[in-house]
Amino acid sequence: MKKKIALALDLGGTNIRLAAIGEDGNVYSRSRSATPTGSSSIEIVDQIVKLADECRREVPEDSEIFAIAAAVPATINEEAGILTKLPNLPALEGVQLRDILTQRLHIPAILENDANAAAYGENWLGASRGVDDSICITLGTGVGGGLIINGQPFRGKDGTAGELGHVCVEPQGVPCGCGGRGCIEQYASATAIVRMAREAGMDVNSSLDVYMAASEGNVNADRVFRKMGSYLGIGIASLINVLNPEMVVLGGGVSAAWDRFIGTVADEIAIRSFREPATRAKIVRAELGDDAGILGAARSAFANEKKVAHHAEVV
Ligand SMILES: [Zn+2]
Repeated sequence: MKKKIALALDLGGTNIRLAAIGEDGNVYSRSRSATPTGSSSIEIVDQIVKLADECRREVPEDSEIFAIAAAVPATINEEAGILTKLPNLPALEGVQLRDILTQRLHIPAILENDANAAAYGENWLGASRGVDDSICITLGTGVGGGLIINGQPFRGKDGTAGELGHVCVEPQGVPCGCGGRGCIEQYASATAIVRMAREAGMDVNSSLDVYMAASEGNVNADRVFRKMGSYLGIGIASLINVLNPEMVVLGGGVSAAWDRFIGTVADEIAIRSFREPATRAKIVRAELGDDAGILGAARSAFANEKKVAHHAEVV
């Protein structure tokens, strides 16, 4: 019997990455390029097809690529396979990417929100493997979130579940791109850390600058990370009370500043969560780095093999 392999695609605003991944998580080949900027959906799809062909050439002969799964920074209408709400990839707004990929690559396609894919990847091969109920929060330029319930991504009726970055932690707080105010994203993202440091009078260009300053004993920088940890902790404390998870996984670039904020996060959880779920929930760092999304997408392909094949027949 031929080895089953999934093509997994991580479609970002900056880079497009592809990998051919086996049922055991083995990565057989990879390809990547910059995302064509300011371009039409056709150029982006052409680039995906080119990278997919590169990946396909390098898989073992006794294998069969049965599907492509894409992790995309979008809300996904699962029924129609249409993408919406892509501020970082506006060219794909309203595009029926699932059917387009199926037609161009001649294999079934499946779409997964990128944060949900990262949560699923960590649950498959990373920090939360073997754990039934977990929350994954990605602290990057923005703040993304994914929920794993009973070992499955929880997507919600409209595919919008898990928007943990937009949990409000300060009712009259900083206005957010989502239209709300005081969302976690406005306090715990890399963007927010730079903004808060500048508000404190620091001359910084990145969250790494703030981290370095804090490590060198800069009091203002230290305060920024405490503030960040406090707001993040307030949000996580509520999530723990709502979901009683076994684990909360923190990933993304900002999670590298772990030692500067995790103490404050733990303090807020201790104050605000019920004792039993707070004791239960382990707060840990993600393990898969940039590969979480691509591995989670592959996991989706394997988990939905039958459904995926059915869609492709209809196309
Ligand atoms: Zn928001």
